[in-house]
Amino acid sequence: MLEIDVLSLFPAMLQGPLADSIPGRIQERGLAAVRVHDLRAWGIGRHRSVDDQPYGGGAGMVIRPEPVADALATLRRPDSTVVLLDPGGEPFRQARALELAERSHLIFICPRYEGVDERIRAMADLELSIGDYVLTGGELPALVVIDAVLRLLPGAIDAESTIEESFADGLLEYPQYTRPAEFDGVRIPAVLTSGDHAAVHRWRRREALRRTLERRPDLLVERPMTVLERTLLDEIRAESEDAGDR
Ligand code: SAM
Repeated sequence: MLEIDVLSLFPAMLQGPLADSIPGRIQERGLAAVRVHDLRAWGIGRHRSVDDQPYGGGAGMVIRPEPVADALATLRRPDSTVVLLDPGGEPFRQARALELAERSHLIFICPRYEGVDERIRAMADLELSIGDYVLTGGELPALVVIDAVLRLLPGAIDAESTIEESFADGLLEYPQYTRPAEFDGVRIPAVLTSGDHAAVHRWRRREALRRTLERRPDLLVERPMTVLERTLLDEIRAESEDAGDR
């Protein structure tokens, strides 16, 4: 079972989304346990203060190190991985989600305001960013990371879904279709109703490569290719050259 402790100044922001839908069911089934803690419980003095003005001046407040250190002194175990959410952290990717899903205990620190006193960084094993933009706090980024990790736990969802989806093997997912077979004059690709599993597999791999080439060519740069994938990429490039000639 994966245990997760989250430190936040706004615990209610996390509780709702984690209780519903698949994350909620994963916890009900005992695959994971997520506990949200109010960082103010470790706050300083009568007012349970957790922040202060930045030395050197400037806008906003900065999270002080003592409440975080005290909270970690309570929560941290030998098997813990402490994750600090920060816009300057490692860009969060599926490979990291897979790796975190194999750990036994994660602690997320969700700062607010102008962020953390620099000395808090040394308390974390990992800093993660969910993208090149700035949010008001670490709660939404923590939810993003936790959601991505929970669904990868063995038994959480249909294993096939996590093997075939975007980023699982470095490609975007192939196009999906459901009923009706024709909508608004657009028919589904004939191969999908051919019953020929090998042809369907080849088509899906080719379309995953095509979509990745068109939308996220950066994903292909360092990805090792199989012989089949090289052949399919050559086909796709030849097709687009033909289309350009016409
Ligand atoms: N002053 C900080 C800076 O310029 O990097 C931004 C602080 S932000 C307003 C407050 C907190 O929200 C951050 O400390 C971090 O925990 C969280 N946060 C905001 N954007 C984030 C992102 N893209 N990824 C991860 N955490 C983020």
